[in-house]
Amino acid sequence: MRIVIVGGVAGGMSCAARARRLDESAEIIVLERGAHVSFANCGLPYFVGGEIADSRALLVQTPASLRAALALDVRPGNEVIAVDAHARTVTVRSAEGLEQLAYDALVLSPGASAFVPPIPGVGSPRVRTLRTVEDAIALRDKVDSGARRAVVLGAGFIGIEAAEALAAQGLDVSVVELAPQPLPPVEPELAWLVAQELRALGIDLRVGMAATSIHQGTDADTVVLADGTELEADLIVMSVGVRPDTAVFEEAGVACERGAMIVDGHGRTSVPGIWAVGDATLSVDAVTGARRPVALAGPANRAGRLVADDILRPETAREIPQPIGTAIVRVGSLTAALTGANRMALDAAGSGFRTLHLHANQHAGYFPGASQIHLVVHIDPESGLLLGAQAVGTEGVDKRIDVLATAIRAGMTVDELIDLDLAYSPPYGQAKDAVNLTGMVGENVLNGTLRLWYAEDLDDVVDEALILDVRRTDEWITGHVPGALHIPHTELRGRLDEVRAHAGGRPVRVICASGVRSAIAHRVLAQAGFDSASLSGGILTLRATLGARAADVLETEDALQGV
Ligand SMILES: Cc1cc2nc3c(=O)[nH]c(=O)nc-3n(C[C@H](O)[C@H](O)[C@H](O)COP(=O)(O)OP(=O)(O)OC[C@H]3O[C@@H](n4cnc5c(N)ncnc54)[C@H](O)[C@@H]3O)c2cc1C
Repeated sequence: MRIVIVGGVAGGMSCAARARRLDESAEIIVLERGAHVSFANCGLPYFVGGEIADSRALLVQTPASLRAALALDVRPGNEVIAVDAHARTVTVRSAEGLEQLAYDALVLSPGASAFVPPIPGVGSPRVRTLRTVEDAIALRDKVDSGARRAVVLGAGFIGIEAAEALAAQGLDVSVVELAPQPLPPVEPELAWLVAQELRALGIDLRVGMAATSIHQGTDADTVVLADGTELEADLIVMSVGVRPDTAVFEEAGVACERGAMIVDGHGRTSVPGIWAVGDATLSVDAVTGARRPVALAGPANRAGRLVADDILRPETAREIPQPIGTAIVRVGSLTAALTGANRMALDAAGSGFRTLHLHANQHAGYFPGASQIHLVVHIDPESGLLLGAQAVGTEGVDKRIDVLATAIRAGMTVDELIDLDLAYSPPYGQAKDAVNLTGMVGENVLNGTLRLWYAEDLDDVVDEALILDVRRTDEWITGHVPGALHIPHTELRGRLDEVRAHAGGRPVRVICASGVRSAIAHRVLAQAGFDSASLSGGILTLRATLGARAADVLETEDALQGV
């Protein structure tokens, strides 16, 4: 059997390696257009930033090492330019010319290419993408040869990694993003923390802004923005998204949707004998059922492995699991990570959901170095199923999101998180870990013990309810909602008449710093007959939701005068 694989990186090489382990007799040929195979695309930004010093570290394997270890016939510099699905041949272009190559099974893992929008001047040699080893070397060369100012267009994961890398190399970096926030899939109240961190790194972040043209200059280019701002740049990184690299295969008859190849549960395309995996394929989201390409290394690697199973052991091959899109990125001292669906995806799918906000310490508060993990978790209000989770913090974010990703994959309900036995000692966690606490909050919400209100509803709440702030006075004076009644939660039980008088029959909506004391106050009020609710995530989430507006909305002056 001859297996021909197109694309020699994540999905393609996983497929090739697994195929060899299953069948010593198969002829396995990997065709790769670029100069390198098995390279660490995810490591490219860290080479640009200098943390990975030598570009050779990015080359995880070479054709020679793959031949020696796995008897693979790996051919860099070989581009597939046509497929004849009836004759079961591919046409390959290389330095030697054109070649027809027959296959018994063809696996397509061509990935995605960086999208370059058609804005005037985009062809300038100072405009670069970050997709290949050559791209990374070119960026690093620019840095090493004295580039001082960089503009990164797009604040998605790769754009942010590129910006962080260039800032680490001492460049003045501007990031321009069309969406109103960096990292568009991240919930706004967490993205605000990322925006602040980018600014703390000295990065000039411009959100809600388009680049309209690039003017080539002698010494530098100028990026012109929609508001007329002009940004000088020695280097422009185009990072506004990717497109499945499938034109050749769509022409050959492989069914595609919006350019992404449609595959069944085993990675089989619409054409017999052709499988496809990775960034170039359409996935069905496990939570929402949405059909979209998922450009992540883990799913591509795992799908490649399972496709080899389907080719060589179809009777026992497992289905490729539907992805839940778990992703993580470092931004300065912060880590941002997400898994499952976000609000936008749940809204688009018409799914009802409740959101929980927590600001739990990553390890015991009394142990030096405790810091908060800011968590946002969406649950199904009927079944309690976990739908999505996101977190931002300086430590421990990866662990919590991986646990929550596992829980989503396992189909767990939020209350089941309470029972997870997670590793604990003071330097690592808390006896009630952030994940356990999420379960407790979720269970309380599901069974009505805790009723939440949300920061995005602040304007309505101000109109219709009494806001009761139960923080300490030293916290209250740092900023509170105008018109709120201030009673520290430790005094609340003795001052319920005061609350009743101020409420005048209106509901009471409680605020504290993070949602813990307001939940206690809510229980006091609810049991005393009040219509009460606790602000999800407290003032921390309120501030992050308001973003730049917080300074205008929250009042500090009057309180200070009263002290
Ligand atoms: C800078 C960067 C950082 C990233 N960081 C992360 C991360 O931290 N975490 C994460 O999960 N994901 C990350 N990703 C995404 C991840 O790398 C991809 O999701 C993954 O590599 C996709 O695997 P794939 O096999 O589909 O495509 P790729 O790994 O991109 O491989 C496709 C290969 O096919 C070749 N090819 C295309 N067409 C042809 C043709 N016609 N003939 C021959 N060869 C062809 C291409 O040259 C390419 O080398 C990152 C990507 C980039 C670019």
